[in-house]
Order: sequence, then structure tokens, then C-alpha cells
Amino acid sequence: MNNHKMPAWLSGALIVGAAGLLWLLESRRPLRRETEPRLGRNARNVAVAGLAAATLQLVERPLIQPLTALVEKRRWGLLKCVPLPLWLEVTLAVVLMDYTLYLWHVLMHRLPFLWRFHIVHHVDLDLDASTALRFHAGELSIATGWRVAQVVFIGVSPLSLSVGQTFLLLSVLFHHSNIRLPIEVERLLNRVLVTPRMHGIHHSIVEDETNANWSSGLTLWDWLHGTLRLNIPQDWITIGVPAYRAPEEVGLGEILKLPFVEQRPTWVLPGDGQPVGVALPAADNQLAP
Ligand SMILES: [Zn+2]
Repeated sequence: MNNHKMPAWLSGALIVGAAGLLWLLESRRPLRRETEPRLGRNARNVAVAGLAAATLQLVERPLIQPLTALVEKRRWGLLKCVPLPLWLEVTLAVVLMDYTLYLWHVLMHRLPFLWRFHIVHHVDLDLDASTALRFHAGELSIATGWRVAQVVFIGVSPLSLSVGQTFLLLSVLFHHSNIRLPIEVERLLNRVLVTPRMHGIHHSIVEDETNANWSSGLTLWDWLHGTLRLNIPQDWITIGVPAYRAPEEVGLGEILKLPFVEQRPTWVLPGDGQPVGVALPAADNQLAP
């Protein structure tokens, strides 16, 4: 039986190092103009994240960690049906977790009950590495059910889980970040991984644009499902959702309460009841035509 995990110091160092580097690059080479002052926003997002992390320690950790040990011991799940070299098993587990997270993300948007929670992530008026951590504790608690299914059906060992979660955190920090990579570099990276300009389109206030680019790690899933959208130049995008555009409506208290109060129709501007128009594609500064 193999109950090894990635050492906590290693994943911790990678994540803290990446977050610090991205924060620095966001100051030096921002991709999008900011709507709200950065420090206050970052503090708010870190507070939401702190609450979510504490909830995960209580809800998810006591369930998922022992479950991965059980998967390893009893050889449950797809990847445990056949003997595989360790490196291949871990790689396949990470890839399959990434794919099933794509499906979960689609459900978060499509099912009204789940959207009530996921909207907290999307009402951020700006997008940067701190948004990557801003998930409502309720969303992550509900997602525990999905995670249980992932572990059992895929056959996720303790090692695969620790590698997968580290990969996911690094990936979400990166593609939510507000860093302006040279467009040629980003085009190349984007063939494999979700990148900041690609994910920026998913955070647009235009419904059609949000209903694209659901992948969290590999671009492949959006490509396979025909939901990849790269032809929106970043300068054309307004981040957020039409229903909540005023900074005072998306303060810390407001967003924590949001899943539990009556919500406005997401995709129309309050007052005029009109959806937001689709941006016309422009020639340059887009990832692909
Ligand atoms: Zn989303």
C-alpha cells in the first residue's frame, strides 16, 4: 500500500512562491485596467478565501483524505483496475480530475442552485490572482460531494490528490492573474494550458462570453467540447456580471450573504432590463481569430 503524498512544504512553497511572483508581475505588467483599488479588493478576496479554507478543513479534509487512503487500499476506481506505473497513474488521475472539474464548472453555471454560490466568484469587478481564491465556503462545501465521486470513480490515491490539488491551485492562480504576457508567448502556452486572456473571457459581463472557456487546467476540454473562445480582445472585456456593477453591492458582507438572498437576473443590467451587447472582434490582441 502506498500512502505517500507530495510533501506539504513543497506544495506550500510552490503555491506561495507562485502567488508572490504573480502579485509582483501584476504590479509591473497589468493586463486589464482595475475598477476597484487593488489592496482593498485583495484583502476582501483573501478574507473570503480564508473562510472557505477553514470550512474545507472541517468539511472536506476529514472525508477526502481517508477516502483516498481507502481507494489505495481497496483498489477502487478506474485507474486501480489495471496495474500502471506510478508516474502514469498520477498523470492520468490529474488529467481525469481536471476533466471532471470542467464538467462540474459547467454545472455550477447551468444549475440555478449552484450558480447562486458560484456567482460570488464572478461578481468580482476585477480579475487577478486573488480572485482565484475567492470562492464562497458554501460552493466549496457542496463541491465536496463531487470530489468524493471523483476520488472513488477515478481511483485517486493520496499522492494523485496532492499532486492534482497543487497543479490546480497553481493553474487557477496563473489564469486568473492580471499579468500581461507577450501575446505570442500566451498563444503558445494557450495551446496546452488555460491562460489569463482566455480565462478573462469567461469572466466577461457578456453572457455568451462567460458561457465559454470552462476549463481549469488543460485547454483541451474546451476544445473537445467546442466551448473554446479566444477571439475577444482583452481590452473589450468588462469583468463581472451585469446585475451587480456597483462596488458597494459587492463588499465583503454583501458577497457572503449573496447565495442566501434574492438575486437579480444575472445577465441584464439593473434598471433597463437589457442584456449587455456582444463585443465586436478586433484584429489584434486576441489569442486567435
Ligand atoms: Zn465560472
